[in-house]
Amino acid sequence: MARVALITGISGQDGLLLTGQLIRDGYVVHGTTRHCSTSHIERVRSYLISQHLTEAIDQQLKLVEVSLLDAEAVGNLVDEVAPDEIYHLAGQSRVGRSFEIPVETFEANTQSTMNLLEAVRQSKLTDKPRFLLAGSAEIFGGSDEQILSETSRYAPRSPYAASKLSAQMLVETYRESYGLFACTAILFNHESPLRSADFVTGKIVKGVARIALGLDQKLVLGNLGIGRDWGDASDTVEAMRLMLSASSPEDFVVATGEWRPLTEFLDVAFRVVGLDWRDYVESSSELYRPVDAPRLVGDASKIKAKLGWRPRSEFTEMVERMVKHHLIAERGSDCIE
Ligand code: NDP
Repeated sequence: MARVALITGISGQDGLLLTGQLIRDGYVVHGTTRHCSTSHIERVRSYLISQHLTEAIDQQLKLVEVSLLDAEAVGNLVDEVAPDEIYHLAGQSRVGRSFEIPVETFEANTQSTMNLLEAVRQSKLTDKPRFLLAGSAEIFGGSDEQILSETSRYAPRSPYAASKLSAQMLVETYRESYGLFACTAILFNHESPLRSADFVTGKIVKGVARIALGLDQKLVLGNLGIGRDWGDASDTVEAMRLMLSASSPEDFVVATGEWRPLTEFLDVAFRVVGLDWRDYVESSSELYRPVDAPRLVGDASKIKAKLGWRPRSEFTEMVERMVKHHLIAERGSDCIE
């Protein structure tokens, strides 16, 4: 019998990449979205077609429209799908936006986690599903430690970070108190060509492509003084899968361990099209966040030692792939316009 996975937030970057990996390995994937609109369904379908997985769309994929804030609906969903594995990826994932909509962010990220954990706890399934939460390194936002690991001090500095920390604490509670196989992947930033332009990296690669094609003249960003530990999203979702196939549930930091300034991202991205970012990028203080995590670098020693995880992608190659993807996409949209 094929293994069954339930992925919340299937239409997001990680949801799509994870779906592709699981389908290739023979899983049946049930994916949730808040809106089974044509565009959401099309996004999932197009991705699978681009990965030469067209046949799987009918045979291995089911999309479900559900509000994860509706406890009863979530309970019914888990009972009906009877998944072996649950990947909880859905959530309000934009740190900057969380300062504007703190209540919605907290509810979306925390209540949804609670509802899913309760659904697992209360399910009558003989083998209860294994549960993974997509947590965030932002929980360390105000930390003064140089390298951050599972034992570092939590110091959330945004409503988003606080919501992810609360969700992580719920996962720990259900693991320790109810014995569920539940764990949190403490994720540092991870990127791919699927990264939305709502995020700085997605905005940069799209902007580079549009400038190179003569569609835009400049790119306006916020604080250029920031940096991140940027990994590849395909490597990241692989780490999530390893965590759910481990012998026991544990939280793990998933990171590359390399901090890079945003200007290095800009350097690499503009170099792909033979341009110098200094000629095109402007910084606007209006786009600054109220507080920005200064230097988040992850120590992934634990997941490397215990689960044998290794990031496979290299930073420059990843950024190049992102820009090239957008060059093709922007050329296409230019033709349609
Ligand atoms: P995306 O933003 O690409 O996707 C998240 C998905 O969640 C969306 O497709 C959306 O699906 C759903 N969603 C958005 N807002 C809400 C909301 N208010 N309530 C419920 N669902 C919502 O995120 P990623 O795929 O990049 O990230 C996956 C998870 O990993 C997220 O939880 C994120 O916070 C976390 N994470 C990601 C990092 C990264 O660098 N990518 C770093 C650290 C943590 P739909 O509209 O179809 O319902």
